Amino acid sequence: MFLTAGREDFKFLPGEYTCCVAPKKGLRVTLLEKQTVASEATGLSCGTLYTAGPPKSTLSPAASSLPTFRYISSLLYQHLQALEDIEYTKCGCIQLATTPEELKFAKKSYEGEVDMVRKPEAVKFCKSLEEVRDILPEAGPSVLGGVYTPNSGQVNAGLAAHKCAEIAEERGAIVRENVTVKKITKSNGVYTVESSRGEIFRAKAIVVAAGAWANDVIGKNKVDVYKVKGQMATSGMEAKQGEFSKMPVVYWFESYHAWSTKHTFPHHMTHDENFGRVTRHAYGKRSPSGNLFFGGDRFFPDHDADYEVNNKALDELFKKKIYPSLPSLSKFFSHDEAGSWAGIMPFSKDGYATIDCLDGEGLFVATGFGASGIMDAPGAMFFLADWLRGNEKHPYLKKFEKRPS
Ligand SMILES: Cc1cc2nc3c(=O)[nH]c(=O)nc-3n(C[C@H](O)[C@H](O)[C@H](O)COP(=O)(O)OP(=O)(O)OC[C@H]3O[C@@H](n4cnc5c(N)ncnc54)[C@H](O)[C@@H]3O)c2cc1C
Repeated sequence: MFLTAGREDFKFLPGEYTCCVAPKKGLRVTLLEKQTVASEATGLSCGTLYTAGPPKSTLSPAASSLPTFRYISSLLYQHLQALEDIEYTKCGCIQLATTPEELKFAKKSYEGEVDMVRKPEAVKFCKSLEEVRDILPEAGPSVLGGVYTPNSGQVNAGLAAHKCAEIAEERGAIVRENVTVKKITKSNGVYTVESSRGEIFRAKAIVVAAGAWANDVIGKNKVDVYKVKGQMATSGMEAKQGEFSKMPVVYWFESYHAWSTKHTFPHHMTHDENFGRVTRHAYGKRSPSGNLFFGGDRFFPDHDADYEVNNKALDELFKKKIYPSLPSLSKFFSHDEAGSWAGIMPFSKDGYATIDCLDGEGLFVATGFGASGIMDAPGAMFFLADWLRGNEKHPYLKKFEKRPS
């Protein structure tokens, strides 16, 4: 679930008040949520936030849209954190290379980022294990190098979404939980939304932001979105002092390297349709309380409500990918309180979200944020909000127009 920020509410100045739904005077906003706020992917996410910082102003809108969204999202979380503890920290992020090919890929990726980013010092290339250890002292001998982005961070996305909803309500929006949208129809320029209990809501514009379930409610205008199961593990044991007590977000290059060379569907998955592993996608973070979260596998759910953790895949990811790079992590995850969970993500075939008006009038959609909705969507919604207010559609949104489903 994501609520939106309007341009006039968001001036990019630290400490300035930011809000997530800012209805224009006289404009009423109602949010209908099937369960409770942040009960699906948003509340089940790991909340890592990659950003190298604002992109150069000379880049094309297509090239700068995602980096801009990510930068704005991080600013939004930073502002929310100033209002209430949403467990946001700007802890930085290190992406690790563990093979010579990955190190070459890391160097290329670093050069690409430096070309794009306004401040080149916002990306650092670590060409050896020693240089990685300056940032992540726990790195093991399998690590050959990496890329560090100090502006990246992490957040508790559930807390952030609840704070957004609270601010929205303070500004006059109505947040209705336990209301399932069944059908949307239109007559004489007015949309009628019917709930499964027969309640009727009327509006001049609708934004369908139902994540992996968006196609259940938008009628014949189906968009490119399908369900992918993602899973994570938590240590249950806090890293308060000593090892991992100051940890940036950690990503590994293996999956990004594999996905850049194998352009086959399924896009950005770790497993194919037959549950064969395609690559290892691993990442992790440390929350401000010291809890460690690692995981990253992505595969097709067995059925619509498949939230069961596949322990075999999780164990294999830890043993073959995570522990060889961070050996001292194993004692944290073998702790009695360690646990795991899975959530359903809204993926698209080409990896891009769909943020568009489906009927040229008032039926909008914002879905398909895949595995990066916490870092991408708040920034993207900033531009959608502007469009909804009657301003020109921003060129950043072009890339996210509806494609064949
Ligand atoms: C394990 C895991 C780890 C992740 N880690 C990260 C990460 O580190 N960084 C990152 O950026 N992203 C991460 N993600 C991805 C991120 O969580 C998603 O991209 C994002 O939350 C999608 O937001 P959404 O609002 O589109 O969907 P959701 O959060 O799924 O929200 C959709 C909402 O629509 C509601 N709904 C559905 N149907 C109806 C209906 N008919 N009527 C009313 N309401 C309805 C649902 O109840 C739900 O609350 C992760 C996801 C998972 C599962």
